Amino acid sequence: MHKGVTFSEEIKQQAQALGFDACGICRATNSGEEARYMEWIRDHCQGGMSYLERNIDKRIDPRLLVEGARSIISVALNYYPPVKLPGKVPQFAYYAYGKDYHEVMREKLGSLFDWIKTRFPEARGRCFSDSAPVLERFWAAQAGIGFVGKNTLLIIPGKGSYFFLGELIIDLELEYDSPVSENCGDCRRCLTSCPTGAIERPYRVNANKCISYQTIENKEEIAPDIVPNLRNNVYGCDICQKVCPWNRGAAPHATPEFIPSERFLSLTFDTLDAMDEEEYRDTFRYSAVKRAKFSGLKRNVAAISKTRRK
Ligand code: SF4
Ligand code: SF4
Repeated sequence: MHKGVTFSEEIKQQAQALGFDACGICRATNSGEEARYMEWIRDHCQGGMSYLERNIDKRIDPRLLVEGARSIISVALNYYPPVKLPGKVPQFAYYAYGKDYHEVMREKLGSLFDWIKTRFPEARGRCFSDSAPVLERFWAAQAGIGFVGKNTLLIIPGKGSYFFLGELIIDLELEYDSPVSENCGDCRRCLTSCPTGAIERPYRVNANKCISYQTIENKEEIAPDIVPNLRNNVYGCDICQKVCPWNRGAAPHATPEFIPSERFLSLTFDTLDAMDEEEYRDTFRYSAVKRAKFSGLKRNVAAISKTRRK
């Protein structure tokens, strides 16, 4: 059909030119992850995220998600912030510091696909970034970008885990990469450091116990046994990444869209406490923090304020 080796390398060069920090390619096939995934669902580890219970066939086999799928082009974009919130103020997960990553990833992946179509106008495919039932970390590992750590996150050797993942699932046959040989070894730091015991065993996070789930996805009250362990995490949690030795060498990102505003960097518990809905909309207009909604953020701040007063 076409010279696969050369074109795969060219795709990776183009991904780099678009600002992606890593790109790998693997065959679109059945992941073989069904048993493990179904066990996690059966044990209700998904909490209230009922969308994870749907489209399981598509999640397990991307060929059912994208018609004619033959290849998965997996990309990673660094979000490790060059400037961080001071330790004592309300903490937001690093990924939420700047502009909503869904939009940034969608735009860059769209540009990559457009470029591919200049060479293969007949190519068909779809772009994803945390936007559809796709086993993103699994495919990134298959595509040789990195390996899945015991905290269930994708770790890129030499770069760490502070990366957004995205995929272009496409009907072109390409040259494929192989998984990397690195792994967590004997390390268990994320398991022992998680304040809520959410990493129940290596490679398994129970969302019900996870501060990220409780402060972002959970639409109900925060589980009472989690509240005393929230520390000052008002939106998400990076603890199992911060303790990971693979993140010691994390370098700051170079994506202007992810630079936090001065307003964001000056947030305190008092300003969040006093914030009304209009200020909330202004402050987080372009941010992923919108996912928690005004009421969710207020709920989190109130829960943490209660424990701080004790
Ligand atoms: S994000 Fe926080 S609460 Fe969730 S598994 Fe990691 S350390 Fe535990
Ligand atoms: S902290 Fe250790 S066990 Fe956990 S993901 Fe990192 S290397 Fe793996």
